[in-house]
Amino acid sequence: MSKHYIIPIFVPHFGCPHDCIFCNQKKITGLSTNVTQYDVEEIILKYLSYFKEDAFIEVAFYGGSFTAINLQTQSDLLEIPYKYKKKGIINEIRLSTRPDAIDDLILNNLKRYEVDTIELGVQSLDNEVLQVSERGHTPHVVYSSSKLIRDYGFKLGLQMMVGLPRDTFEKSLYTCREFIKLSPDCVRIYPTLVVKDTFLEKQYSQGIYKPLSIDEAIKQVAIFLMLFYTNNINVIRVGLQPTDNIQMGKDVVAGPFHPSFRQLVEAYIIRFLFDLYLRKKNIATRGKNLIIEANSSLISIIAGQKAANIDYWKSNYLFRSIKIFKKNINRNYISLYINDFCDNINLNKLMEEFLESYPLKTK
Ligand code: SF4
Repeated sequence: MSKHYIIPIFVPHFGCPHDCIFCNQKKITGLSTNVTQYDVEEIILKYLSYFKEDAFIEVAFYGGSFTAINLQTQSDLLEIPYKYKKKGIINEIRLSTRPDAIDDLILNNLKRYEVDTIELGVQSLDNEVLQVSERGHTPHVVYSSSKLIRDYGFKLGLQMMVGLPRDTFEKSLYTCREFIKLSPDCVRIYPTLVVKDTFLEKQYSQGIYKPLSIDEAIKQVAIFLMLFYTNNINVIRVGLQPTDNIQMGKDVVAGPFHPSFRQLVEAYIIRFLFDLYLRKKNIATRGKNLIIEANSSLISIIAGQKAANIDYWKSNYLFRSIKIFKKNINRNYISLYINDFCDNINLNKLMEEFLESYPLKTK
């Protein structure tokens, strides 16, 4: 399978009718000027020079609200990747936008330029959360825009945020379940961060807004990830991408930021499932040797950051030793040995069992 490369083109605050309280795209994208056709071509050519010949290449317009820009500028910007797509040099085009910036005129234009995927920055499907975040639209438009995007034959991406003002776990859970019903092709999950020069920063410094702690964010996002995984929905990003400035103490003032946030969540899920499994099997562990075999892509997740899971299992289950080995098996399985006990664990099935025992699973 050829490697999938993204050529990111950031269009900060292009087209945004106003600032959502948590957003400062100039800080998030590191750009403060508008992007021109010339810039788009230059970025594409720069990235193309890095890629291998058999790569699958996608041009992605991120940031801002692409389809809220005037139609002529959208066309000007899209013309460049479209030219490379027609020549077979790039494979797909994606863009992200606001849910209320979708209509027939816009979608017809995107079809002309062979855009493949449209991602909607939904953030929440709770009306109060949208209102206090000053999003400027209701949840209703998310459903109508998602349907229209699908009707036109685009792939649909949905982005949610966790921990916005007035948000709760239950409200984010509702957003997650509604996303599942909308059956998107991909999802992104972003814990809310307090970014410099935003209204949220003011609320934070006045003590009006309190961000989630990193532990709270991990525990909430773990549930949402398991729900998406067990409903076969591709989660393409968890947590804001760290850059030179998107770092705690730089443009991130507060909030659950970690450069490897997704790995932290996935390590937590493994630990959580392991607890569940051992409780269910009621296996004696004191003084025994634990061996885990798994797909190479899972090894560091199983061990946890700085071997946190290994330490946790040693102190909570009193294993004498813990070893983790690579094995050529499906990523969804792990083989487990505790002295002479052994089992192959289907992680997805364990997640499903857990989610079914709570009123969480989308019917
Ligand atoms: S969150 Fe999206 S719509 Fe809101 S200001 Fe930022 S880029 Fe614009």
